[in-house]
Amino acid sequence: MEYETIIGLEVHAQLLTDSKIFCGCSTSFGESPNHLTCPVCLGMPGVLPVLNKKVVELTIKTALATDCNIAPYSQFARKNYFYPDLPKGYQISQYELPLARNGYLEIEMEKEKRHKKIGITRIHMEEDAGKLLHELDGKPADYSYVDFNRTGVPLMEIVSEPDINTPEEAGEYLRVLRAILQYLEVCDGNMEQGSFRCDANISLRPKGMKGLGTKVELKNMNSFRHVMRALEYEIQRQAVVLDSGEKIRQETRLWNADQGITESMRSKEEAHDYRYFPDPDLVPLVVDDAWVDQIRQSLPELPTARQERFVKEYQIPDYDAHILTAVRQLADYFEACVRLGAQPKAVSNWVMGDILRRVPDTRLIGAFSVTPAHLAEMLGMIDAGTISGKIAKAVFEDMVTSGRMPAAIVADKGLVQVSDEGALEKAVKEVLDAHAEKAEEYRQGKEKLFGFFVGLVMKATQGKANPQMVTELLRKKLAG
Ligand SMILES: [Zn+2]
Repeated sequence: MEYETIIGLEVHAQLLTDSKIFCGCSTSFGESPNHLTCPVCLGMPGVLPVLNKKVVELTIKTALATDCNIAPYSQFARKNYFYPDLPKGYQISQYELPLARNGYLEIEMEKEKRHKKIGITRIHMEEDAGKLLHELDGKPADYSYVDFNRTGVPLMEIVSEPDINTPEEAGEYLRVLRAILQYLEVCDGNMEQGSFRCDANISLRPKGMKGLGTKVELKNMNSFRHVMRALEYEIQRQAVVLDSGEKIRQETRLWNADQGITESMRSKEEAHDYRYFPDPDLVPLVVDDAWVDQIRQSLPELPTARQERFVKEYQIPDYDAHILTAVRQLADYFEACVRLGAQPKAVSNWVMGDILRRVPDTRLIGAFSVTPAHLAEMLGMIDAGTISGKIAKAVFEDMVTSGRMPAAIVADKGLVQVSDEGALEKAVKEVLDAHAEKAEEYRQGKEKLFGFFVGLVMKATQGKANPQMVTELLRKKLAG
């Protein structure tokens, strides 16, 4: 039987606020356990939550960037369940009346050269729970410990429509969404540290059939690659179950990265199990148009718009623009180089080659020793014929380690390109005299040897010869 896969994603993004969602405690990461707490986030009796305005602002930003409708009136609700990391016995979230609904974002499937809109069902705000620790100093502990530092840290949940049909589309959706959140500076997008988490709902149905099959929820995937692998595994597992005539159980499954499989965790709870009801401690949230407009004015240029502008303004291929704009800091770096007068395509080639190799996490490119000023100056020296492309590679390596400016490196190491025709003619003559037999073979038609001569001349000049002049001189001499 052939099946169609239906995937919906739920992303939890930690918002970049200094303080928690309902109290003034700090949200900083890595502090010693239970030091960032107060009676409100510890769920003591008699305390009252107060909504952090910044949380609403960042959520509205995201909603506007994904074309959602902002509800003028929304409400917080209590989601009731027991777990040791949840001191109040309920999580404050939004349920029936979320802040934003009905948006979309567009993904680009590079290989198939197609665009697809993925609907966004809703975006709402909620608080994070605490964290259970089962180890102490790296060893299994006799007890489980609970750390409430994360309790009340603001989260935004972004729920997609079940518009995703392949693991690749899921990966691309996450990449696009994360880039938008990073451009907006609402979330740092760090999946390893858990500030950008993704759960997936997946079901299969016979091809051509309407309606949805039974869905399974997948959790515990802490990288894009794991999300895609878990989905691939689950597609196969569900197909085998269905082929054998059995039914899919509605359940939550955990991704086991070590074994590359998903494992049943619990049967999936239904929404009514949580006894949602409006939180009586928080007044309904009313958002006026003036505030929304003011936030709209503050939105930065987003990745897709920037990509299109790069293609038009800098005449670089769509492929380059796609890579350069994926991370805001990288796009800023590229534009800074161009503003300093460097050729856009040359900058793009260096960034996508040598620089990406050196800076795997491009969000940190601001701290890279080769600044836009370094790169632009070096590219200018290539254009002016002062150094060859080959020498530039050596200059680049020096800049990476020493942080010196290229002109200083070239002067210091005597790397200036030799464009003196007399000197080059002499070098060419010496090479040809030393390899007279090979020169003759070339003249008889063995044209492959040309590169051999170029290589020898470059070697004789320690790579400093102007390659174009060497080529011209060699052609002249070998023709004669
Ligand atoms: Zn607190």
